[in-house]
Amino acid sequence: MVIDQKRPSIWMLVAILQVYVWIYEVPKICKPFWTNTFANYSDETSEFILNLSVILFFLCYVAAMIPVYYFAQHPWIDQYKIQKDKPWPWLSKDEKTRNDFWKLTKRSVKFISFNIFFLVPVMSYGKIMILSKLNMGGTSFATDEESWPKPFRSFIDCIILSIIHEFGFYATHRLCHVYPFLYKYHKVHHEYKMNVAWCAQHNHPVDFILSIGGPGLLFISLYPCHSMTQFQFILWVMYANLDDHCGFSFPWSPVRWFPFAAPTDEHEFHHSKNIGCFGSKLDIYNRLLGGHEHYLKWNEKRQKAQ
Ligand SMILES: [Zn+2]
Ligand SMILES: [Zn+2]
Repeated sequence: MVIDQKRPSIWMLVAILQVYVWIYEVPKICKPFWTNTFANYSDETSEFILNLSVILFFLCYVAAMIPVYYFAQHPWIDQYKIQKDKPWPWLSKDEKTRNDFWKLTKRSVKFISFNIFFLVPVMSYGKIMILSKLNMGGTSFATDEESWPKPFRSFIDCIILSIIHEFGFYATHRLCHVYPFLYKYHKVHHEYKMNVAWCAQHNHPVDFILSIGGPGLLFISLYPCHSMTQFQFILWVMYANLDDHCGFSFPWSPVRWFPFAAPTDEHEFHHSKNIGCFGSKLDIYNRLLGGHEHYLKWNEKRQKAQ
């Protein structure tokens, strides 16, 4: 069965509920802690601390997914697997496939450790310093109670940030596929043909700076906003990135149910076939500028075959 993440269901309500909690309830919970704690730090230090929250989020998501992969053969979990025609590599009957997977996982530990524990802090610090000097973004990173945004304002800001960020990702990702001197770095990310959550950050450092750092710098330079909104947005992006690579089309995913959201299997298609689908969380640029024609044909074929 092919899972359609945009088909109305009880799971879609669960997805919507998660968005409601993230936009309306989380700021209320955070507000007292936020205004008291960050009052002791400069805007730049506060922004740096909040940027590092993505590291913890990544580690928690991967830790939560490990039991799911362990029980991946259970029929209830297996129904959401995207590449149903192939076994998970660690469960393959072929010894070489299993060994290759564990070798690749060890390689991931090295890349991921460097990217999240070194590049993320360095890039965050660099971004804050540059924007602070240019009097952009960094200096408007308010953490005070007076400028606390209304939930609807945060919601609109997150939509605008998504459109800007997605353009940055689509453009840098597409360039990485078009130009061989960039693809030689990006191909490291494509070593996974069947995704597992941690491959979300399995990137060569050059690719990581370009396709993860570049869009991040773009959105914050063009649209600086309140610290709470930035926090909500960066974790939203990290969630979408992890969801892109989890290998499952979960119908309760909070980042897939709304119009113009790209389904998880688009990025899985990108890894397994390596043709088109340059976007991530939204499919607007794939539609406007090209990139999902092959995916649409592949999707139509498998829908008919089911
Ligand atoms: Zn790619
Ligand atoms: Zn990917």
